[in-house]
Amino acid sequence: MRVTILGSGTSTGVPEYRCECDTCQCARRPGSHNYRTRPSMHLEVEGLHLQFDTGPNFLDQIDRCRIHQIDAVVYTHAHSDHVAGTNDLVMPCRKQQCDMPVYGPAHTLDALQRSFDYLFTKETFAGGGVAHLVPHTVEGPFTIREVPLTPIPVDHGAVVTVGYRIGPFGYVPDVKRFDTGSVDLLKGVEVLVLDALSFNPKHPTHFAVSEALDVIAEVAPRQAYLTHMMHRIDHYRFPEQCADQGLTLPENVALSYDGLVFEL
Ligand SMILES: [Zn+2]
Ligand SMILES: [Zn+2]
Ligand SMILES: [Zn+2]
Repeated sequence: MRVTILGSGTSTGVPEYRCECDTCQCARRPGSHNYRTRPSMHLEVEGLHLQFDTGPNFLDQIDRCRIHQIDAVVYTHAHSDHVAGTNDLVMPCRKQQCDMPVYGPAHTLDALQRSFDYLFTKETFAGGGVAHLVPHTVEGPFTIREVPLTPIPVDHGAVVTVGYRIGPFGYVPDVKRFDTGSVDLLKGVEVLVLDALSFNPKHPTHFAVSEALDVIAEVAPRQAYLTHMMHRIDHYRFPEQCADQGLTLPENVALSYDGLVFEL
């Protein structure tokens, strides 16, 4: 199984527009791990290529990370930082000469069909200028070409949101609270990628680092990576920042970054 973190930033991306803080200045330098596009991930497992979310940076992300195949798209929820690039599925569909299966909670698929109705209408495909998406509603554990996926229901404010477990790997980019039993669904994963927006636990819809560390301690993966970070988190000063906040950073926790690839 091979995981590519395509985007590790929050909905605004980093650098933040017009911000001149140290992290944003660093993010504007070539090759900086503080440069974070909107959250997205690609997973290759047993020859199956799964794309998780298609946010506003989607097409640039898959080109930059040389993702040359997408067999299905799996959605976490309908916030625009996760779905605004859905129209760009036209390129994978055109290159692969195929329709694209898309999986997600009913609420997410409804939102996609309202925003991108023309992608769900076979007739509009005739000109070749748009993708054709085939919706599959996620209601519980399911398989895509024999690969089992388990949705992890989470509380992320008003919008219905899930993370996913695929065998030894868990991906939960947007969460404020785990629903009853949801943390248990992640127990036993080797690697967990988890939301950590900032150091502020008062944020209404996203984990702070402290909240992420609590869940990581409970799930106890071999390795955890934080994602969906805003500019308050500096890739190069993170251990120091944690110490300033009175947090002990465990050895198995690191920040993810755009373009991070790992195998498990
Ligand atoms: Zn900034
Ligand atoms: Zn969200
Ligand atoms: Zn998000």
